[in-house]
Amino acid sequence: MKITSVEPIHLRVPVVEAIPDGTLDVLIVKIHTDEGITGVGEVTSQSYVCKACFDAPRSAARRHGLTSILVGENPLDVEGLWEKMYYETNRYGRRGAAIHAISGADIALWDIRGQFEGKRVCELLGDVYREDVRAYASVLFGDTPDETAAMAREFVDLGLTAVKFGWGPFGQDADNDVAHVRVAREVVGDQRSLMVDAGHAWDVQTAKQRAELLAPFNIDWLEEPLSQDDRLGYGELCANSPVPIAAGEGDVTHWDFEDLVDRGVHVVQPDVAFCGGLTVCRRVSDLCNKHGRRPVPHCFSTGINLMASLHWIATVPNGDLVEYCLRPSPLMRKLVKNLPPLINGRVPLPTGPGLGIELDEDIIAEFRVEY
Ligand code: MG
Repeated sequence: MKITSVEPIHLRVPVVEAIPDGTLDVLIVKIHTDEGITGVGEVTSQSYVCKACFDAPRSAARRHGLTSILVGENPLDVEGLWEKMYYETNRYGRRGAAIHAISGADIALWDIRGQFEGKRVCELLGDVYREDVRAYASVLFGDTPDETAAMAREFVDLGLTAVKFGWGPFGQDADNDVAHVRVAREVVGDQRSLMVDAGHAWDVQTAKQRAELLAPFNIDWLEEPLSQDDRLGYGELCANSPVPIAAGEGDVTHWDFEDLVDRGVHVVQPDVAFCGGLTVCRRVSDLCNKHGRRPVPHCFSTGINLMASLHWIATVPNGDLVEYCLRPSPLMRKLVKNLPPLINGRVPLPTGPGLGIELDEDIIAEFRVEY
């Protein structure tokens, strides 16, 4: 089998606000083959830039566009093609947009291989430990503790057993932070999981103090308390924090994650549509298994990301948790026709071969943008 063409497709809702919401603007990737099988992937990054990473023509060594690297290759050699894409872009790649773009191609290649072999992607990735995965919803903290409480109530009513609050007004004032987390814990009760995303708010000293103030509320993790680049800070904080520290949604390649694990990060959060794809996610979970860390997918864009994340995390022994995005954007709600539903706080694995995704071509036509 050979790859005949690669289609990076930019989808965008009419108004993209500058808010932390990955469901407004996305790059999807279709890889076509000479046997009529088409694989689908997604890139959650700067869509214009990542589309250019595909479309750029061949150049001098190791600075080619991804499409020119892939066309003519055997799509079944998924990991070989990951190495080839990584190496042949390394003058402008290695980290950043080129790796984000590789994620979309890698997801699509796993989809092709699964369809070709008549197997689900999870079965290709490893042993399948579960047929549904516990979901957690994440949302911004309310402007006031009462607003936070109201949202926590909504999530409980939806049947969720795990909830994460983050960003918004959080991080600026210790008393206010505690008030928000206290009320969230009161509403979700002791039987459900509560997580907090600090959104890079602090330096190490402040993060340590906050972690101590939040420890009595028994949070599952405190996410990204420091800048993503404060690697020394994570090392110091993880060794001293009374609550588990989570990070990794901004990291790419297994090398970045080796570093995070080395720094002592307890909960490791790759985004499959950003970190380098399913090939990288599988390496990350192998690393987590070896070092006793907990991998949890960061997943806040479309149903493609969700379904790829489910296939991956189903193969991870201690991986019974996935982020489930509840944003109303049509790119989240409608792009994938068979979007996995929330059932009693859990999400079923897709059943078809490959990723098992059915895209809605009308939604693609409606939201597709060209340069
Ligand atoms: Mg986060």
